[in-house]
Amino acid sequence: MKISKQIEWDMGHRVTNHKSKCRFLHGHRYKAEISLTGNLVDVKGSSDEGMVIDFGDVKKIATKYVHDALDHGFMVWNKDKTLTNFFSKNKELKHIIVPFVPTAENIAGWVFLQIDKHIKDKYKTNLKLYSVKIWETPTSSATCTRKDFSDA
Ligand SMILES: [Zn+2]
Repeated sequence: MKISKQIEWDMGHRVTNHKSKCRFLHGHRYKAEISLTGNLVDVKGSSDEGMVIDFGDVKKIATKYVHDALDHGFMVWNKDKTLTNFFSKNKELKHIIVPFVPTAENIAGWVFLQIDKHIKDKYKTNLKLYSVKIWETPTSSATCTRKDFSDA
């Protein structure tokens, strides 16, 4: 079965070489939908009996490793010299330097890897992170699954 949990955060970015206005500094209310698959926990009397994983456990991981890492920060491509110079002189401004252009697609991949590191199949129910879908606006989204890393 598959379950999903959504989280949201505010973050700035720019798409450095974009042909239009996305190259300017701006921000979004990002939303991530984190989906996991697995068999239902059948350990009698356990708190998560009948669940793939407790929604609260997904929320804890997503809050700590995604929301708290990114919220009210500015995501910067490490090849964006204008902004890496700016933030090196203004270290008190929250920023996240990443080795990719911070598009919704690449952010979905980044979030996938952050969450994936912290998913533990504690009941051996074949619990797995299935996908991360990122909305950059209410009508624009990108979805990352494990397959997106298989060529890497
Ligand atoms: Zn944008």
